[in-house]
Amino acid sequence: MMNRRHFLAVGTFAGVGLTGLAGLGSFATPVAAKTTGELDRRAEAKFRLSCQVGGMVPGDTVPAKMANMKKYGLEAVEPHGGVVDNPAEFKKMADDAGLQVSAICWGSHDGDLCKEDTGRINVVRDALKKALEAAGILGAKGVIYVPAFATQTKLSNQEIRKRCLEFLPEMGAFAKEHNTSVILEPLCRMEAFFLRQVADAASICRDCGGVDSGVGVMGDFYHMDTEEASDLGAFISGGPYVKHVHLAGGTTEPARTLPGQNSRTFVDGFRGLKYIGYQNFCSFECGCSGDPAVEFPKSVEFLRAQWEEA
Ligand code: MG
Repeated sequence: MMNRRHFLAVGTFAGVGLTGLAGLGSFATPVAAKTTGELDRRAEAKFRLSCQVGGMVPGDTVPAKMANMKKYGLEAVEPHGGVVDNPAEFKKMADDAGLQVSAICWGSHDGDLCKEDTGRINVVRDALKKALEAAGILGAKGVIYVPAFATQTKLSNQEIRKRCLEFLPEMGAFAKEHNTSVILEPLCRMEAFFLRQVADAASICRDCGGVDSGVGVMGDFYHMDTEEASDLGAFISGGPYVKHVHLAGGTTEPARTLPGQNSRTFVDGFRGLKYIGYQNFCSFECGCSGDPAVEFPKSVEFLRAQWEEA
């Protein structure tokens, strides 16, 4: 039986959830170690930047954008789903630029997992497998997957969770065969009412078989601005399941632009990433207010300062 004093001694990391948990009384085993492993892994954490091939990064062509990513110290590039038709071509461009490929931003495949017509599940199964094979060729950490956007499904929260648990373990196992993973992306409630918070997605990963299931989670600072009470708490809840991060400003104007262009702060979230010893990529997925040739390097500098401060 653990007394309150012992619980406080093991539970002091970052103070997350401590007040609420301590109030529940005694525990048979320390709950803090359930998903987080070592409590403080800051010494292992690395800040590794990636970027989507979009208007936020200067350059008129994909190779020119990749050259600028490299120039500003980024380590990786994040392609969209179209890359699955010719991953070798994209891999060569990334190699030529000296960049790794962080993840494929794939999407929901029209929400096929969550249709009333269950026949659509076979369609998304085949498509996601093709994307996971491409991720393997690209050396990417995973395929970013949303079970459905809000307008693509009529199922309830509970029904969608059930579909996820029936579908994702097989996809995770297939991903592992290709040295990659399925990465669930929680979105704000307007876009995905059934998968909003990092901890919610992490609990799906847990129920799919845990950290070796090939199913992971990510956090997107734009969506987290709406949904998370604590960025730090969110990433600590995600713990070893966190495979990827999207970087964007929050909901204040100019909304979802380059980090540093609105009031969104990243220190609290970066502190969480440091605590879990995060070594995967943080990838720009955002717009740009102004000239990207000026604004993009400013944003990189801003983020590096926020990481230092965290
Ligand atoms: Mg995102």
